[in-house]
Amino acid sequence: MTRYAMVINPSDCIDCKACMLACTAENSVPLGKHRNRVDSKCHGKFPELTMHIEPGQCMHCDNPPCVRVCPTGASYINKGAGGIVSVNPDMCIGCRYCMMACPYDARYYDEETGVVDKCTFCLHRVVQGREPACVETCPTKVRVFGDIDNPNSEASRKLRNHPTVRRKAEAGTHPNLYYIVD
Ligand code: SF4
Ligand code: SF4
Ligand code: SF4
Repeated sequence: MTRYAMVINPSDCIDCKACMLACTAENSVPLGKHRNRVDSKCHGKFPELTMHIEPGQCMHCDNPPCVRVCPTGASYINKGAGGIVSVNPDMCIGCRYCMMACPYDARYYDEETGVVDKCTFCLHRVVQGREPACVETCPTKVRVFGDIDNPNSEASRKLRNHPTVRRKAEAGTHPNLYYIVD
């Protein structure tokens, strides 16, 4: 089996947002919408301030509430493509239930097409043996994408060699984005 995931090292992120630009250009994301983002938060009190920067996007959950609530089956787990959570635009009726159900705010509504969209793990590139646009563009190589069922993939090696956490794990979504905590 193939199971696609991303291992992210937030401490290497310099908040340049090149990943966001690359994603927008690669996937023709409409103006004002985003498939990925870079969040930053300040901690502490002046002058002892630290900043935590963290890239995020669809977590391609193994137990995705967006898929459960979709009334038409437009949102689905693509089992033939490493479990990538996908949207079939021909079946989407634009009801946006999935947007409300997603605990990660990972989806957007495209006013022009009338359907919901989100990160695809750049499947169109992956099937050509290329990396997702955000992975390839990042100057500090914050994201590592790969098949975590393959013990020899770089993503598997990262998972073995670093402690990681998954966001909002308590929601039971079993997300496939792992954040390195060291
Ligand atoms: Fe669905 Fe949100 Fe999980 Fe992505 S992050 S698979 S949109 S629940
Ligand atoms: Fe499914 Fe589309 Fe409705 Fe989302 S907006 S729940 S993908 S039909
Ligand atoms: Fe965008 Fe592709 Fe990165 Fe997803 S994997 S955030 S679609 S560039």
